[in-house]
Amino acid sequence: MTVKLPVSGTPVAVDFDPAQIRERYARERTARLKRETLGQFQGLSDVLELDSSDPWSAPFEREPITEELEVAVLGGGFGGLLAGAHLTQNGISDFRIIEQGGDFGGTWYWNRYPGVQCDVESYVYLPLLEETGYVPSKRYADGAEIFEHAQRIGRHFDLYRTALFQTNVTSVEWVEADDRWEIRTDRGDVLRAQFVLRANGPLNKPQIPRVPGINEFEGKIFHTSRWDYDYTGGSAAGDLDKLRDKRVAIIGTGATGIQAVPFLAQDAKELFVIQRTPSVVGPRDNRPTDPAWAASLEAGWQEARHHNFLSFLNGHHQDENLVDDIWTHLFPSLSGQHLIDVPATDLPVEDQIALAEIADMQLMYEIHQRIDAEVKDPATADKLKPWFGFVCKRPAFNDEYLDAFNRSSVHLVAAPTGVDGITATGLVVDGQHYEVDAIVFATGFETGSTSTERYGYDIVGRDGLSMRERFADGAKTLHGFFSHGFPNFVELGLSQNAYVVNFTYMLDRKARHAARIVAHAQKNAVTSIEPDPTAQDEWVEATKRTEELRLAYFAGCTPGYYNGQGDVARGFFNDVHNISEIDFWNMIDRWWEDGSFAGLTLNSPSITTTH
Ligand code: NDP
Repeated sequence: MTVKLPVSGTPVAVDFDPAQIRERYARERTARLKRETLGQFQGLSDVLELDSSDPWSAPFEREPITEELEVAVLGGGFGGLLAGAHLTQNGISDFRIIEQGGDFGGTWYWNRYPGVQCDVESYVYLPLLEETGYVPSKRYADGAEIFEHAQRIGRHFDLYRTALFQTNVTSVEWVEADDRWEIRTDRGDVLRAQFVLRANGPLNKPQIPRVPGINEFEGKIFHTSRWDYDYTGGSAAGDLDKLRDKRVAIIGTGATGIQAVPFLAQDAKELFVIQRTPSVVGPRDNRPTDPAWAASLEAGWQEARHHNFLSFLNGHHQDENLVDDIWTHLFPSLSGQHLIDVPATDLPVEDQIALAEIADMQLMYEIHQRIDAEVKDPATADKLKPWFGFVCKRPAFNDEYLDAFNRSSVHLVAAPTGVDGITATGLVVDGQHYEVDAIVFATGFETGSTSTERYGYDIVGRDGLSMRERFADGAKTLHGFFSHGFPNFVELGLSQNAYVVNFTYMLDRKARHAARIVAHAQKNAVTSIEPDPTAQDEWVEATKRTEELRLAYFAGCTPGYYNGQGDVARGFFNDVHNISEIDFWNMIDRWWEDGSFAGLTLNSPSITTTH
């Protein structure tokens, strides 16, 4: 049919009636809305049979450390590794990385479930490829290869020498008299550092739904981030041979569940996939790295690829699409330009918004068609169809997931209310009891809470200022790095900086910026650095102004962690400065070229310089 845009009347040819789709989205959203939003979840330690401890490394003893150092890096995932790498490249060696796990890798250390893989092209996702002389083995790397790369960075930059593994930070306090942070850990360490770079990561704390009866279950339960291979057999590559006589339920069909289901389907005697909301499942199209292409790469190739990738995600023109993946097609498609004959940018704003909505529906229509083509049973295919805006929830990409439902041993159990209860022998969904031997929770990670709740420590700045309290109604930073009242503290994770899709690129740029600042302080005998309150307020206001469109989009979405499970005030991206990531980093480059450290106050024993 043809629909007309509301103001200009521009015709748009579509395969569906947008009014009907809009109504269906609203209906499905209402069915999924719960009174409880983020409170519907609990931590692993709240459930008797679950254990959040480290299954991958044996505990070890060491003596507590008391020392002075230049930089403490909190977290040893890619953020911490990149901080270590860039500090080293800037000539700074007096630092330690403090990490909860038994090795580097962060999310790739913990998540070793079958099928774990990154949805961002490996040649842009894996950082420091040129520096470490590595080219990934395939277009989308498996978790094991990504974890190995984290270890490679650790070895290449000699970061193992000073890293403190299996160590949890318990307090971080600014000592004004000494211009030092005092960091204490659960190992009894007391580290006094001039700078703290925090790279804790947003998805660290696994969560389980508060389901009645969960402690009564007599079978096996575990969360995907603590996969129990002793129970299932096999490895992340599959062959879960101990499940061949087992009935297994997996709860959750987000990015993790989608990756694990094909492996469980292959080996379990019976598999029940408990789906509350279906995910968007786009094509994977993985392939091995072409050795001729790898050999042809010239110096500077990875940064050029990053720039090309980001250009497509942020609407900047490029003649050639180097990555040519679903993300680079998705973002341009969302403008709807391909659906009309006139330049979309010439249309009134109302029409641009209406066109973007239709373009989004068109993408979802294609996702539905893919399901119909892959899933033989029409009733099952229908239940697998997501009814919400394409980026309401994190899209998944997989070429085996939908086909798994063609096996007679795989049962899709779909109910918008999710799991009602757990019994000694199984679980209850929509009033029906399913007998199972094991339940796998692919139910994600705590979001929407403060980092203090997720990591168990607060950042206490000047005059006892608590970051938890100060940020209770949103972050307050200059450019997503520094915050007034917390001198020499740099946030390397997701904050009021721009970000889209490739998390490690953001971490790399943030780490580079932070390392240069630390090097400048060292060279110029600067004792403390802090943003000027006016510059910070202006950035916080500018960030808020960029939020409007995103908040409006997520407010209409079916609940998920992107929109705080329906409470948009606690959405996952709420602090993000919503401008082109290319424009943001160009701005930071100009800030360095300007050389005046605009917006920061740099103190040294004899001079205080406010810029
Ligand atoms: P998510 O939070 O995305 O998904 C959790 C799933 O559990 C959802 O399907 C949710 O349903 C379901 N769920 C929660 N409570 C219940 C309940 N009571 N009954 C039934 N179902 C329930 O977690 P994931 O671990 O899948 O993914 C987290 C993030 O990790 C991803 O969004 C992505 O950013 C990252 N990730 C990245 C990968 C990559 O390739 N780079 C791979 C895997 C993960 P509902 O949708 O209804 O809330």
